[in-house]
Amino acid sequence: MTNSVPEIVRLQAKVLIVEDELVVAENIARNLSKQGYIAVDIVDTGEDAVLQAKNTCPDIVLMDIMLQGELDGIDAAGIIRQELNLPVVYMTAYADDTTLERAKQTEPYGYLVKPFKPYDLRTTIEIALQKHRTDSAMQAEYLAQLAQAETKLTQLTHRDLLTQLPTWSVLQAAFEQRVEQMHGAVTFAESKNPPLIPVFCVGLDRFHRISNHWGYKVSDDLLQAITDRITACMGESGKLARTDMSEFALIMESVEHKSQAEIMAQALLKSIAAPFWVNDQEIFITASIGIALYGRDAEQADALLRRSRRIMHHTQQQGGNSYRFFSRLLRSDTIDRLVLESDLHHALERQELLLHYQPKVNLRNGKVTGAEALLRWQHPKQGMVSPAVFIPIAEESGLIEPIGEWVIQTACQQLRDWQLERVPPIKIAVNLSSCQFSQPQFHQRIRQILQQTQVNPIWLELELTESTLIQNVELTMHRLQMLKALGLQIAIDDFGTGYSSLSNLYRFPFDILKLDRSFVQDIHANPKNAAIATAIITMAHQLNLKVVAEGVETINELAFLFEKQCDEIQGFLFSKPLPPLEFAALLRSGKRMKSLPTRES
Ligand code: C2E
Ligand code: MG
Ligand code: MG
Repeated sequence: MTNSVPEIVRLQAKVLIVEDELVVAENIARNLSKQGYIAVDIVDTGEDAVLQAKNTCPDIVLMDIMLQGELDGIDAAGIIRQELNLPVVYMTAYADDTTLERAKQTEPYGYLVKPFKPYDLRTTIEIALQKHRTDSAMQAEYLAQLAQAETKLTQLTHRDLLTQLPTWSVLQAAFEQRVEQMHGAVTFAESKNPPLIPVFCVGLDRFHRISNHWGYKVSDDLLQAITDRITACMGESGKLARTDMSEFALIMESVEHKSQAEIMAQALLKSIAAPFWVNDQEIFITASIGIALYGRDAEQADALLRRSRRIMHHTQQQGGNSYRFFSRLLRSDTIDRLVLESDLHHALERQELLLHYQPKVNLRNGKVTGAEALLRWQHPKQGMVSPAVFIPIAEESGLIEPIGEWVIQTACQQLRDWQLERVPPIKIAVNLSSCQFSQPQFHQRIRQILQQTQVNPIWLELELTESTLIQNVELTMHRLQMLKALGLQIAIDDFGTGYSSLSNLYRFPFDILKLDRSFVQDIHANPKNAAIATAIITMAHQLNLKVVAEGVETINELAFLFEKQCDEIQGFLFSKPLPPLEFAALLRSGKRMKSLPTRES
């Protein structure tokens, strides 16, 4: 085995020496040189060790523990291991248990207790270099496997299996990029009539009748034929996605006047209304189209699709086979929103906000291990308003900061109260919106809340979405590290719905991945969802992440997730989100998820 390490590699290995006693350091450097190594530098502080490790790119770092400067050898080694992935060998006179425990956290490649012999140094360096080469090769292979799984996942999540059209998230990302470019262009900013981008929602009228009458094979073939016609009709003037069973979204190239969108809508309706021949059957179908315009109706792709869908449904209710623009509903929409926003300003002081808790169940033993805190607004006139409605308003109006802080404060206080009342302990996960996460002093505020409420951070989880994480990678990394340093856990929420990839995200220090509800739905019967969920669970486990499936509603979904080794589930099957008293009663009752098969491992 020893002969398999080529002599030439050993001779050329570059060594950085970190040692604050110059005489000792020079002695080591002489020894190394006699044995054919290159001592690239000698430094005596932890800060310089990090700096020179970056500058000189050594093959290995010999690290004393007691050093000058703020960082000691273990701190410096931690940074060098984490950021540069270089092998570090400690050489120190301190071999006590505490030092050893701290040193072990940095996963060193060796630990030499001073004084040591030149021969000990040489063997330790050689073994460390060999082990690091093997580790690097394994890591490269692991990254290649991850990339492969990722490619498969991207194909699945970014393409509709039946029609091969891109999914909405792909169109949305392209749209946002286009809008950004347009805003950057001087012509756009200065133009009196900025271009409009029409977003169409094309719904097939009474499509369920076709699948009920002719069966799935015919309706699938029909959908493919309709896709071909829409694609031919639109040519190069737009991009198409399938957004639902019988619904498409089309984003047109920018137009100067809405009449250009009208011409397209008329052409689409005509082309779909012509008879189809599918499996020797003549089939007639019509469509309804709703159109919302970027530059007039909304700015975000999602809001545009929502609005075009609303008007499309309205058109269908009026009989279908027609198109309409969104504008007529816009006014009432805006007024509702303004009223709600002004009410939301008072919601905190009037104590109209509350938290409900939805249990998360461990699939190994069926026990409740945690809960997600979900915000509720008891509006005096409108009753319970959904967070899906008021969180976007809170985000746009800046109210999310005080509201978000109230949520964390209330969840921590609840944890404390339950601990005092001897309710069985669980973790609570709190949702964060990206504006909260971007607040400069956010981690300090969390620390204060934890201190005030006397809650140990191990009981708190923060849920962030992909879009929050990918906004500014460097800054995000720093913020996550500050939060992790508090001792809490980070979950990535609604995973799979964004446009990011796990291979971009895996460097972020998060612990839990929440599989979005859209992939859990009918997972046992829907091959696409099954493939996506399986790929996500496998990849997450490779990255040592715990997987929580959201929105589990049926026993069949549960059985599938169980078989795929999903760690936890959350969903109406076990329990809806509950008010605090009911949730505490559930914990006290010791209720478990029944009907779990036993796992072999
Ligand atoms: P989320 O974080 O993905 O939360 C899960 C949502 O799925 C919750 O909706 C929950 O009630 C719902 N759900 C759970 N199990 C099932 C199921 O089996 N079937 C179905 N159909 N739905 C299920 P909810 O409470 O309406 O919250 C919606 C979203 O609002 C949350 O999605 C989260 O993004 C946001 N939100 C809620 N509370 C907060 C908060 O305190 N702060 C922030 N920033 N956002 C919040
Ligand atoms: Mg959540
Ligand atoms: Mg979620």
